[in-house]
Order: sequence, then structure tokens, then C-alpha cells
Amino acid sequence: MALENITVIGAGTMGNGIAHVFAQNGFSVILVDVNSGQLERALQTISKNLDRQIAKGTLTEEEKKKTLGHLTIQSNIAIGVSQADLVIEAATEDTELKQDIFRQIDGSAPKAAILATNTSSISITKIAAVTNRPKQVIGMHFMNPVPVMKLVEVINGYATSKEVTDSIVALSKQLGKVPCVVNDYPGFIANRILMPMINEAIYSLYEGVADVEAIDTVMKLGMAHPMGPLQLADFIGLDVCLSILHVLHDGFGNPKYAPCPLLVNMVTAGKLGAKNGEGFYRYTPGSKELVVSSQFTR
Ligand code: NAD
Repeated sequence: MALENITVIGAGTMGNGIAHVFAQNGFSVILVDVNSGQLERALQTISKNLDRQIAKGTLTEEEKKKTLGHLTIQSNIAIGVSQADLVIEAATEDTELKQDIFRQIDGSAPKAAILATNTSSISITKIAAVTNRPKQVIGMHFMNPVPVMKLVEVINGYATSKEVTDSIVALSKQLGKVPCVVNDYPGFIANRILMPMINEAIYSLYEGVADVEAIDTVMKLGMAHPMGPLQLADFIGLDVCLSILHVLHDGFGNPKYAPCPLLVNMVTAGKLGAKNGEGFYRYTPGSKELVVSSQFTR
């Protein structure tokens, strides 16, 4: 089955990036969000990101116009998915919310449609279980920022059919991405490996082994990581990191995944990282500065 009409649910950080990439590759895209302000902001973000590609010489004005012409916004899920060949859910990382969205999509999308989720860590099998088409439910985990990052982690739920996996692998390649197929266990591969590293970096800070700058510099210069783990945590969102660690901790029942108390404190205090201006660094448009690191140590 040709996948031509794509509906993306959730117009936040990831949803707007996913919509951008599909529209730029000629797919017809409907972007859905319950928050209409967020839909307007997503269109502005996509336009700004396309301008950035033009400035770099990787896109023309004509291609930008075509890309925006492939995009429509919609605040009603049932209408948004009614003609979809593929729905990609990229709403807030919350199991009940995602299950509720999948019930709605399952009731309104064409019977043959594939239903994908961009979840970072929630079980695909658990999401698929609330639908009448678990064979057609799959994880399609893009990385942030979506237009730049090549990887798509393709996650097979317990019931996902081989045909559906093959379609999503082929589609990812069509977008110029590199798909990696993995099975549905907590954190999949990307976050099962990344989150313990971020958590350990936060523990190193919490225990006063080193300050923010030293921890990030060691990992950047010593391990050739483009960004230190604390800055990366700020970009992912500290609330998102905490919820993924909870999924790993609950899913494996292993204390090695217990979130560092400092991370719990920061999220409780509303320090969520770059998206709301402060995490391990303080962010103002166009710049970042270190938050005084002694405030973090035990
Ligand atoms: P976000 O908070 O930026 O955006 C979530 C969007 O979902 C918001 O616009 C919100 O209005 C919308 N939403 C909430 N409930 C909805 C509903 N019922 N129907 C439609 N829209 C609804 O979150 P994000 O960072 O874009 O993350 C989205 C998903 O992608 C999560 O599952 C997250 O784990 C995953 N993810 C995030 C990253 C990252 O770096 N941020 C990377 C990979 C995957």
C-alpha cells in the first residue's frame, strides 16, 4: 500500500519536525493538535527552519513554497485522520493520553491505515492493545531535531506484522533517513543506553564529583560527543528524561535505572531545560550560560 497521506498528531517540538520532513519530501501532511496556538507556532517554526535551509543553500524559495503547500493544520483528530494512510502520534509522553489518542485514531482512520507512535519509551504493545489493529501499530521514533538527525528507530510491538515493519523501513529510507529495527522493551535501544548515561552525569554533579562545565567538557572532548550529557538533557527536556527513567525503572525493576534525586528536584521545581529557559544552563534567545553549579551539589 502506498503511503501518501500522512497525519501527525501533536504539533510540539517533534510533531512540527516530522511534518516538516514529510512535507519537504512531497507527502501530503495534516498536522493535528488540540491547542490551536501550538498549530500556529508550529507553522511559524517550520517556516523559520525552511528559511535556515535556504540560507545554507540546501533548499530553494520555490521548494519552501511547495513544502508549505503540502501542509494543512487541523484541531479535530477525527477529521484529521479520516483520509490518512499513516498516522504518526507525537503528543505528550504519557501512557494514558497516548492510549486515549490511539482509541480515537483507531475509530476514525481508514481500516488499512498504519498507526505509528513517536514515543521515546512507552511500550508499543501497550499502546497497540487499545486498538482493533495491533498488527498495524508500530514505533517510528525520530530524533530531535528531526530535519537534521538521520536515525529513525523502528520499534516492533508484540503483534506488529512484517509487512508493516517493511513499509515503515522503506518509508524512512524514502525520507533520506536511516532506519534501525528494534524490539519493544523499555527504552528500546536509544534511550536504554542514553538515559543511564545522562542519569550518571547528573549523579556525578549531585555527588560533587565535578561541576556542569567539567562533566560536559569531559564527554565532549574525551568521547567526541557533539554535546555534553547535561546540555543534551536540557535540550531533550528534564521532565522527558525523568519520565523515560521511570519507564526503565518500572519496566526492568532494576535499581540501576532509579532517577537521580537532583533530577527529580529540578523537575519538581519547574526547571525543565531549554524549553522553559533553565535547566543545567540558563537559556535566553540566541545564547546559553551556566547556572551557578554549586547550587546543585549535595
Ligand atoms: P511537546 O510537549 O513539545 O509537544 C507535545 C504536543 O502534543 C503539544 O503541542 C500538545 O498540545 C500536544 N497534545 C497533547 N495532547 C494532545 C492530544 N490529545 N491531541 C493532540 N495533540 C495533543 O513534546 P515533544 O518533545 O514534541 O514530544 C512528543 C513525543 O515525542 C513524546 O512522546 C516524546 O517522548 C517523543 N520524543 C521527544 C523527543 C525530544 O527530544 N523532545 C525526541 C524523540 C521523541
